[in-house]
Amino acid sequence: MSTLEVSDIVAGHGQLQAVHGVSLTARPGEMIFVAGANGAGKTTLLRSIAGDHMATSGKVVLSGVDISELPAHHRARSGLSLVPEGRRLFPHMTVRENLMLGMSTSREGPWTVEAIYEAFPNLAKLDNSPAGKLSGGEQQAVAIGRALMGDPVAVMLDEVSLGLSPAAVELAYDALKQVRDMGLAIVVVEQDLSRTLNTADDIIVMCEGNVTLHAKPSETSLEQMASASFGHEEGH
Ligand code: ATP
Repeated sequence: MSTLEVSDIVAGHGQLQAVHGVSLTARPGEMIFVAGANGAGKTTLLRSIAGDHMATSGKVVLSGVDISELPAHHRARSGLSLVPEGRRLFPHMTVRENLMLGMSTSREGPWTVEAIYEAFPNLAKLDNSPAGKLSGGEQQAVAIGRALMGDPVAVMLDEVSLGLSPAAVELAYDALKQVRDMGLAIVVVEQDLSRTLNTADDIIVMCEGNVTLHAKPSETSLEQMASASFGHEEGH
């Protein structure tokens, strides 16, 4: 069974329709990438799935349960977690305090601060540091850890590499691959097409709210993906 099954999401901002019926599926241990240029509708899609933005229509099913009508905090409690663009840590709070905030969904599960430190040893030595003093990559790892503290079955991340150095991007993706290998379903919004092609289990490219390419990495190429980001429909 798929962990996350999203069908035909339509969403907009006032008169503007930003997402025109987008579907995606993420199974346990799969990393699905949503790529596309600025303004393609990727953030609106993720926020609609998480319930932070009210979709006009469409369905979100998590572990076989339809959560489309639930508000965001109930979707989180059902096991769906969103790491927003910019990470939104509290800069003056310590790493541990930021991680603890992720517990607020009060789901039962294996994650504790100590378990996060075991999974991401780089964070353990930063336990008492203010989050604002960390590098971008470390902050992204804290944001991922905070999402895990809610014991999700699916994690969505917006713009993982945005504003990070190449080394920091590696750190963030190392953390994500570990999370994937634990059997979580992951949906990543990423503008870096090479990273998408090299890392994804399944690729969706959006342009102006539509899916212009949906393919496995082995079925597509950088050229096709670039062309799809400009609105040319290819693949299947
Ligand atoms: P980016 O990478 O720039 O975040 P994106 O692919 O995530 O782009 P969205 O942020 O979802 O795209 O934006 C899709 C469309 O919706 C764009 O035309 C954008 O201008 C518009 N939009 C996004 N947020 C709002 C808002 N709060 N109010 C009005 N229009 C919005």
